[in-house]
Amino acid sequence: MNMHYGIYGGQYVPETLTGALRELAQTYLEAKDDPAFRAELDDLLKHYVGRESPLYYAKRLSEHLGGSRIYLKREDLNHTGAHKINNTMGQALLARRMGKKRLIAETGAGMHGVATATVAALFGMECEIFMGSVDVARQAPNVDRMHALGAKVRSITEGGATLKDAMNAALREWASCSDYTFYLIGTAAGPYPYPMLVKDFQSVIGKETRRQCLEMCGRLPDEVVACVGGGSNAIGMFAGFEDTPQVRRVGVEAGGMGIATGQHAASINGGKVGILHGMKAYFLQDANGQMLDTYSVSAGLDYPGVGPEHCLLADEKLATYEVANDDEAVAAFDTLCRFEGIIPALESSHALAYAIREAPKHDRDHIIVVNLSGRGDKDMDNIKQYKEKHGQAL
Ligand SMILES: *Cc1c(COP(=O)(O)O)cnc(C)c1O
Repeated sequence: MNMHYGIYGGQYVPETLTGALRELAQTYLEAKDDPAFRAELDDLLKHYVGRESPLYYAKRLSEHLGGSRIYLKREDLNHTGAHKINNTMGQALLARRMGKKRLIAETGAGMHGVATATVAALFGMECEIFMGSVDVARQAPNVDRMHALGAKVRSITEGGATLKDAMNAALREWASCSDYTFYLIGTAAGPYPYPMLVKDFQSVIGKETRRQCLEMCGRLPDEVVACVGGGSNAIGMFAGFEDTPQVRRVGVEAGGMGIATGQHAASINGGKVGILHGMKAYFLQDANGQMLDTYSVSAGLDYPGVGPEHCLLADEKLATYEVANDDEAVAAFDTLCRFEGIIPALESSHALAYAIREAPKHDRDHIIVVNLSGRGDKDMDNIKQYKEKHGQAL
């Protein structure tokens, strides 16, 4: 079993977890080829999540920018408002197949916690979400949503008390109770087999986009664009275009206040190779290899690393990794609200910011698909605070 993406990935975990990871990989590989598993997942994606999500031609936005035609893959219209449910649904079915009665998950902004609490309620499983105490305080509405869905929230006070520390705590917990507990990781990262299975569950985004673009435009897009936190929505979009190198695959990292300031969350553009959370990948670290705190206006991009497949794609130049700073993301948020009547997540606004920058360089024959990974209702307070701080009109 190849657990690596070039030098990246692997299974850097204590011995107590290798058995649980082996069991998970075996279950997944069997389930993948089981038509009944696939049929149940497809049925839930259709009737519960609301797939397929539309591909939408953003005509007014494209005309305003005066270049490329921009299409939006509307993952924001999924149940719970983002792409994360594609993955939590798949992993919850695996948990049930393995006879596990309890789900645990890490969360930062709280979106993955809500998506996990949602599927736990749907399948009648116990659920506990690990969340840094700093995030518990600043993401109160999502903590309330998790409680409403019947989940417990465990507030983690170690380290910087944010996502990185929550994931450490969840891995530790899993090592002590993996016989009845399933660890549901929220992005295409962590020890093998998580990067593989999360990608597979999110690949529905890219596969649908490819088919929809062929139907609507009669050809493939020139570029597909997605924001990169841990990298799950991006790798899911990229998965639809692996055999078509003419389709440029663009990931957009959070540049925060600018890479040069050190205040960012761009692990590929501003990080170094290291090991954390069971994998080798690019991480933000100091000269001694200590993990650094991330900064981004968008809480959902605040992960100090990135999934291993993206590291390999970046090294081999099979995908391009751009950066959008806070100010560009907030401006892109405003632009989409005003020109299309769609309030995008701040995470997705980073991908939009790239498209807005790129579109005027091309003509109408050029097609850019932006993955709109989530809706932005959750970000209204954040945007207001950002604008007040920077003296911008609300
Ligand atoms: C969590 C989240 C992201 C970032 O996660 P990836 O694993 O990089 O996709 C992006 N957009 C939204 C809306 C999110 O909730």
